[in-house]
Amino acid sequence: MSASNHPLILDGKAVAARVRADVAQRVREFVALHGRAPGLAVVQVGQDPASSVYVRNKKKACAEAGIQSFSHDPPATVTRQELLALVDLLNRDSQVDGILVQLPLPAGLDANEIMDAIDPHKDVDGFHPTNTGLLAQKRPALRPCTPYGVMRLAQEYAIPLSGARATVVGASNIVGRPMALELLLAGCTVTVCHTRTRDLAAEVARADVVVAAIGKPQMIPGAWIKPGAAVFDVGINRLADGTLVGDVDFAGASLRAGWITPVPGGAGPMTIAMLLSNTLEAALRRMAR
Ligand code: NAD
Repeated sequence: MSASNHPLILDGKAVAARVRADVAQRVREFVALHGRAPGLAVVQVGQDPASSVYVRNKKKACAEAGIQSFSHDPPATVTRQELLALVDLLNRDSQVDGILVQLPLPAGLDANEIMDAIDPHKDVDGFHPTNTGLLAQKRPALRPCTPYGVMRLAQEYAIPLSGARATVVGASNIVGRPMALELLLAGCTVTVCHTRTRDLAAEVARADVVVAAIGKPQMIPGAWIKPGAAVFDVGINRLADGTLVGDVDFAGASLRAGWITPVPGGAGPMTIAMLLSNTLEAALRRMAR
């Protein structure tokens, strides 16, 4: 991989801005053709402050791209039946191309059951088992936004993936697992690490591509990184003093990596950009059906 001593900092903010501008252009074409904007229903159950920030950012990004968002904010006391009825309504609403249910849901509601109820064609988060299954079967449809964003970054910087050894640290349904499937699809030889992995240092050290999705501040020291490797840090951790850091020791890893994402400004901004891209994609597919 890259032999440079100076890593290329992967500018997720700039790439995300390009993706968003491209989506906005294609949304204008969609409106001209179909006489309506693509629509995203955003469901936020309860008033979790962190969720409110995410939801506000998503709606703002939609507005900037010309995508219409529809807000649904049931109280935390909403029943399982009421929430399923709302999802059913949105599944059948012809103005709605994408449905996003902001997680986490309040205790007592089963997120899996709610997500499973979303029409897979409108599942712009890509979390529905149908979409995960399609990705696993090498026929991706709507792809989970965070891993998809990492792939888009890798593509923009022409990072060689075919035949590369990739190690994904973290095996969650929303990041680690779909990330491994994406890298496999791109031709990597993929290792997935988690809490029971025996020798994490060795698994990271032999990787040409490292994706960290753990949620533990600076858990991966720079010394583990193979010289020239591409490092994608998906982790977002807030330290006691308020600073945001990733799962990788950025300063240390920068001394060895060929490419590296900063936190913030790396993988993070790509996630919303890919959500907009997925919403447009869902709208285009729906109109073509
Ligand atoms: P999660 O808690 O669901 O999963 C964490 C994974 O890390 C688990 O599979 C666990 O086995 C593994 N892990 C934990 N400790 C480990 C250890 N010591 N060694 C090896 N593996 C270990 O978290 P998640 O939802 O996948 O999120 C991971 C991180 O990514 C978090 O910091 C989250 O904030 C961030 N995130 C960022 C975005 C984005 O937009 N950039 C999106 C989603 C999540």
